[in-house]
Amino acid sequence: MPDIVVVGAGIVGAASAYRLAEGGLKVLFLEKEATFAQGSTGKSAAGVRVQFSEPLNVLLSYHSILEYREIPEAAYRPTGYLFLVPEGLAEAQEEALRVQRALGVPVEKLSLAEAQKKVPFREEGLAYATFGPMDGVIDPHGATAYYLREARRLGAEVRFSEALLSARRKGGLWRVRTPRGTYEAPYLLLATGAWTGEVGKALGLEIPIYPVRRMVFATAPAPFPHAFPLAVDLATGFYLRSEGPRLLFGRSNPKEPPGFREGMDWEWLPPTLEAGLARFPFLEGLSLDRRASWWGYYEVTPDHNPILGFVEEGLLLAAGFSGHGVQQAAMVGRLMAEEVIFGQAQSLNIAPFRLGRFREGRLLREQGIV
Ligand SMILES: Cc1cc2nc3c(=O)[nH]c(=O)nc-3n(C[C@H](O)[C@H](O)[C@H](O)COP(=O)(O)OP(=O)(O)OC[C@H]3O[C@@H](n4cnc5c(N)ncnc54)[C@H](O)[C@@H]3O)c2cc1C
Repeated sequence: MPDIVVVGAGIVGAASAYRLAEGGLKVLFLEKEATFAQGSTGKSAAGVRVQFSEPLNVLLSYHSILEYREIPEAAYRPTGYLFLVPEGLAEAQEEALRVQRALGVPVEKLSLAEAQKKVPFREEGLAYATFGPMDGVIDPHGATAYYLREARRLGAEVRFSEALLSARRKGGLWRVRTPRGTYEAPYLLLATGAWTGEVGKALGLEIPIYPVRRMVFATAPAPFPHAFPLAVDLATGFYLRSEGPRLLFGRSNPKEPPGFREGMDWEWLPPTLEAGLARFPFLEGLSLDRRASWWGYYEVTPDHNPILGFVEEGLLLAAGFSGHGVQQAAMVGRLMAEEVIFGQAQSLNIAPFRLGRFREGRLLREQGIV
């Protein structure tokens, strides 16, 4: 009998399965798709950054980036994140800077003239910029493959094309039903991303995580050399970054309704470009590559922060990262293993991200959601 059933082979489930197996637990790992990273993990813009305002977000990302740096398959590149700060957010971003500096993570405050050296932009309405030299990108697919391989090496049994259909607690064990059979284990970890609200229903639980579609637009190779960091205009949420000879860009549509809506929403391209061209006029000279553009689901909670740890006896959640799970998965994997092995996460205090916050009305106010 396994000690724990881990559900969901995205980067969060894979990192957790690895750390649990490393901690000596017998892991059964279930994924509904035929292979790994088919959910949000394979659709992300792959950015990693310590520039958050909530201390726990800063630390989850910081420790994860330190880990990715040591994993060749994660292909970490410290290309940086540049936040362009409008006057209206100058004070709030100063506060975030204070949090980041108090935690000892590397973030610089730049004048607009200094920021222009990273990427050219129109300065209208901006106060200053912040730059994270440790921020950058990884290969989420490669990192997930690494964790999965290590989990298997340590004895985890990985079953693809096998969805959790339902689960019930009986006699101190979770009974997990799939189309292929029923498994019993004392612990069950849901790392099911945008599907966690649905999976919760199958367990008779109300879990406030829902899917929201997001697009990443890709240009054709640019006719000029570039190496732009991920630059975010905090006035509109528009971002861009270099990816080889192309640029990737996007902007969250605040009116996108929750739900499993499929395909590119091309109607969101004009409002995205409007914001982008106003700040980065050089985009005018580039053409869009529709076929290289893609979409995926953010896994959104009411306060855009994840739900971590035990929610009832033997049942853990590590889901709902609301668009920043790739950069936090490594540390979350360690914390979930600690939660099971020691009864409570040890390396960081995950209390702010426990499910109970929604019941208790303690919603968090992370400023750095893109
Ligand atoms: C367009 C876009 C851009 C993004 N950009 C970034 C970024 O720059 N940086 C960043 O950190 N994050 C980014 N994200 C968010 C990031 O992709 C997610 O936070 C992260 O991948 C979540 O990983 P996960 O393992 O929790 O979920 P997922 O990767 O979605 O994995 C969940 C898995 O659970 C499986 N599953 C679901 N239900 C069941 C079931 N019943 N039985 C078995 N298996 C099941 C799914 O098939 C899936 O494989 C972006 C997301 C999108 C869509």
